Amino acid sequence: MKNDQSKIIREQAPRSATREHSVPLYLTSSFIFDSAEQGRAIFAEEEEGMVYSRYANPNTTEFINRVCKLEKADTGLAFASGMAAVFASFASFIKSGDHIVSSRAIFGSTHQLITQLFPRWGVTYTYVESSDVEDWEKSIQPNTKIVFLESPSNPGLELFDLEALAKLKNKFPQVIFIIDNCFATPYLQQPLTLGFDISVHSATKYMDGQGRVLGGVAVGKKELIDEMMFFIRHTGPAMSAFNAWTISKSLETLGLRMDRHCDNALALAQALEKTNEIVDVKYPFLSSHPQYELAKKQMKAGGGIVTFEVKGGKERAFRFIDALEMILYTSNLGDSRTIATHPATTTHAKLSDSERADLGIMPGTIRLSVGLEDKEDIINDILQALDKTK
Ligand SMILES: *Cc1c(COP(=O)(O)O)cnc(C)c1O
Repeated sequence: MKNDQSKIIREQAPRSATREHSVPLYLTSSFIFDSAEQGRAIFAEEEEGMVYSRYANPNTTEFINRVCKLEKADTGLAFASGMAAVFASFASFIKSGDHIVSSRAIFGSTHQLITQLFPRWGVTYTYVESSDVEDWEKSIQPNTKIVFLESPSNPGLELFDLEALAKLKNKFPQVIFIIDNCFATPYLQQPLTLGFDISVHSATKYMDGQGRVLGGVAVGKKELIDEMMFFIRHTGPAMSAFNAWTISKSLETLGLRMDRHCDNALALAQALEKTNEIVDVKYPFLSSHPQYELAKKQMKAGGGIVTFEVKGGKERAFRFIDALEMILYTSNLGDSRTIATHPATTTHAKLSDSERADLGIMPGTIRLSVGLEDKEDIINDILQALDKTK
C-alpha cells in the first residue's frame, strides 16, 4: 500500500483468535501474563506487551498508530480529553524557573494553564503579539523550555509560518516546539514535517467529528513522547478504550469529511463576502485573507471554521443566532452538523473588550463550525437569518 488514506484505513489492532473483521472493543483494565517470567520481562521492558489500560490498550494503540500515520510521527499518546493532552505536553517537560513562549490566541483552558496554573509552579510566560518570526525570536529567553501555538487560531483564524518558526530551533536547541493542531487536523496540516517537535489535538473535534466523545492525542519525536509517557503512566489521564474505539473508526473517514467541511466552508465564506450585512469575514483560503499565500503553502485546504462579524454588534449577533432555523448554538466544533457560537459572550467572555479586540473578537463576531450538510442549506440558513434581522 502506497497511499496514506489506504494505510490509515488498514491500520488495525492485531486480529484476535476470533478472526473478527472490524476491531473489537477491549474493555479490560489489565492484561494477563503467560508466565511469571513473561510478567517480569514485560515489566522490565525486555519484552513488549500490554500491562494495564492506564498505560496502553489495543484500542488506544490502534488510534495512536492511525494518528501517527496521518501526522508522519514516530509515536504518540492518547488522552481522556484535548486538555489532558495539552496539559501533559507542558507538564511533562516544565520545571520551576522555566519560561513558556506562546501565541496569544489560544484555547481558553490553555490560556488558564499558562496564566493561572503554571505561574503557581514558578513557570513564567510571554505571549507573542504578532505572527512575525522576529518577534518570536525576541521572546525566547535562556530559560525558555517550550514554544507553543495554535494555527489557525481560534476564532480569529490567524496563521503562523510553521516552517519559519521551527527553524528557530537551530538557534535555540533547548526549546521544544509544540502546536495545537486541532483546527487544521493532520489531514490538512502536518507540522512535524515542517520541523515541529510535538503536535497535540483535541480528538473531540474533527477526529471524532460527530460530537460524541472526548479525547486527546499528542504525537511527535520518540524521545519526547517517551518523557511524556513517564508523566501519563503515573498521573493517569489515559483515554478510555471505548472513546479510542469510537474515534479510531472515525479516522477512517477523516479525509472524506475534511474535504467536505472545507468545500462547504469556502462556499459559505465566499457567499458571505457578497452580502452587505457583514463587516468582515475570515477564512484562510479566501484570497482576501491577509495570509492567503501562507495558508496555501502550509495547509491543504482552509479548514471547517468561518468567522465573521455581523453589522449591528452584539444585539444583532444575538438576534441573528436566534433567527437561525437549521443551525444550532452549542459550544463544540468540528461536528458533522453546522454550529454557531458567539465568542464574546461565551468562550472569550472573561477577557476585557480590548483583549478581545486584539484577538479579532468584536461584539458582532460569530464563529461558525461548518458541518457536512448540503452547502446550499447551510448558506441559505445564514442568509435568511441575516435578512430577517436587518
Ligand atoms: C476543544 C479544544 C481543546 C480542548 O479539548 P477538549 O477535548 O475539549 O478537552 C484544545 N484546543 C483546541 C484548539 C480546542 O478546540
